[in-house]
Amino acid sequence: MTEHTRQVYYYPNKMGRIVLQAMEEVISHAGLVAVLNLAHLPHRIEMLPPNNLERVFQFDELSQLLTTVQVLYGSRAGCGLALRTGRVCFKYGLREFGPLVGSTEMGFRLLPLEAKLRVGANLLVEVFNKYSDQQVHVEERGDAFLWHIDRCPVCWQRQATEPVCHLAVGVLQEALYWVSGGKYFNVEETHCIAKGDPRCTILIDKQVIE
Ligand SMILES: [Zn+2]
Repeated sequence: MTEHTRQVYYYPNKMGRIVLQAMEEVISHAGLVAVLNLAHLPHRIEMLPPNNLERVFQFDELSQLLTTVQVLYGSRAGCGLALRTGRVCFKYGLREFGPLVGSTEMGFRLLPLEAKLRVGANLLVEVFNKYSDQQVHVEERGDAFLWHIDRCPVCWQRQATEPVCHLAVGVLQEALYWVSGGKYFNVEETHCIAKGDPRCTILIDKQVIE
């Protein structure tokens, strides 16, 4: 085990709460109860993390939740459920974190699409880097944005042969949909720490899917 993986990192309670609420919306209350029991997190059934910014919700817990969804529903269906959970997370997250980073004050609607995507990506980076231990940076490469997660809670301590950060892909899909006023983009995780890459990278085509 490396120095890096022995560290304990956290999401703020508010983010943990959002993930659990989003998961419940997608897989139903009964589904969430089954996942929490199987993930050895039964205390969460009665008690969601409080709605505050204290960093108490461990990366381990998030990664355990998502691993359990895959185990319980199978890897194919589990992938779809994690994607949908990610999309709902963005909706709830926007309500909770949008005001903190001033997303409501930006003159978004007046900007050209590519500039909207750039501004939106930077706001989202700020949310993660400022309020959680998840570290993100964005790189722009011609016709694509590369969303690099340098420290990723979604695949924390996981090992896989394929990228597994579907939850993060879902968050970005919904963010793009919101920022662009209802357009779809190709979003794909190309690198993942779980399969031995140095960071998780999600590629976003700037070109809208027609
Ligand atoms: Zn990851």
